[in-house]
Amino acid sequence: MQVRYRYRIYPMPGQQQALARAFGCARVVYNDCLRVRDEAHAAGEKISDTEVQRRVVTVAKQTPERAWLGEVASVALVQACQDARRAYRNWFGSLSGQRKGRKVRHPAFRRKHRRQSIRLTRNGFALHGERLYVAKVGDIKVKWSRDLPSVPSSVTVIMETDGRYYASFVVERKATPLPGCDAEVGIDLGLASLVITSDGEPPIPNPRFLRARGRKLARAQQALSRKQKGSSNRAKARKRVAALHRKVRETRLDHAHKTALKLVRDNQAVYAEDLCVSGLARTRLAKSVHDAGWSQLLRLVGEKAGQYGRTFAKVGRFEPTSQVCSACGVKDGPKPLSVRQWTCAACGTIHDRDVNAAKNILAAGRADKSNACGGSVRPGLGLAVPGEAGTHRSAA
Ligand SMILES: [Zn+2]
Repeated sequence: MQVRYRYRIYPMPGQQQALARAFGCARVVYNDCLRVRDEAHAAGEKISDTEVQRRVVTVAKQTPERAWLGEVASVALVQACQDARRAYRNWFGSLSGQRKGRKVRHPAFRRKHRRQSIRLTRNGFALHGERLYVAKVGDIKVKWSRDLPSVPSSVTVIMETDGRYYASFVVERKATPLPGCDAEVGIDLGLASLVITSDGEPPIPNPRFLRARGRKLARAQQALSRKQKGSSNRAKARKRVAALHRKVRETRLDHAHKTALKLVRDNQAVYAEDLCVSGLARTRLAKSVHDAGWSQLLRLVGEKAGQYGRTFAKVGRFEPTSQVCSACGVKDGPKPLSVRQWTCAACGTIHDRDVNAAKNILAAGRADKSNACGGSVRPGLGLAVPGEAGTHRSAA
């Protein structure tokens, strides 16, 4: 199975400049791709992927305005084209109704002051002893916080907004199955609690310090907005906001790892609602921040399930899981969110709203499994699950 391993890297000043060029070129190519596709779409013209790439890379390099594209590794530009293609496809599929679930918006143009990245396949990078060689950048120092399990097939070099650099490798890792167990669980993702399980265990909370940091972050953001554009105080304030973002991100990731491991270790199968689908029911609540946290958690559950020989499946179809009685199956009708507990009119069972939803997810997951049509059950998804916002999802 494919997983990502991320390390902090320390490029020298000259390498930082070379990386900045590569980030800039990849960003421009990505944005040019979107523009070319937008223009073709507006003109009602069908345009092939190779033609898009030819226009924004090969042809563009010949023009004086884009001649500098030749200074960076072309593999990074090709990958930027592919990223743009995927983003465009998602939006287009959503427009035409082929892609189910929540509406995907037009892909955003990449911006200079956001997180920057380039993606490289095997012909654009190599491991030179302890160092990471990146084409046209050189051998970069890496802090190997753990060993790579295998030779990586691709790497994403990232500069976060706080100025730190990372290398995120896609590697193949062998499964190490745990002894089997009988328990199966359905999970409902929430805001007040991160996870509510069908087995009646206490809900797994969202760490409180995330909320505390959230307040701090809001204040820092306010301070940033008061600083004059282009001033050095503004640059400082931006770094402060970025550092707080990093802490929130790292805390959330750490918590998600622990939560995912617990769910996978304690259960032979874990079922969750497909976020694309549940998003429909939760549009008003689902802030992108929470979305990111949820999909990150599900991605990790999928990865760990694959790692430890357990099953993870998403319940794909739309069912109002909070409206159906998990004991007798009668649909009780919609309930406002303030209703935390209700009694089934048909069988008299008293339900906790969220636990009932989790039980319904478990039942739907089991039903999918016994139908075994494979349509909505995709065990051990690994990298195929939507990842953190702004990252590249698959190794392809
Ligand atoms: Zn009932």
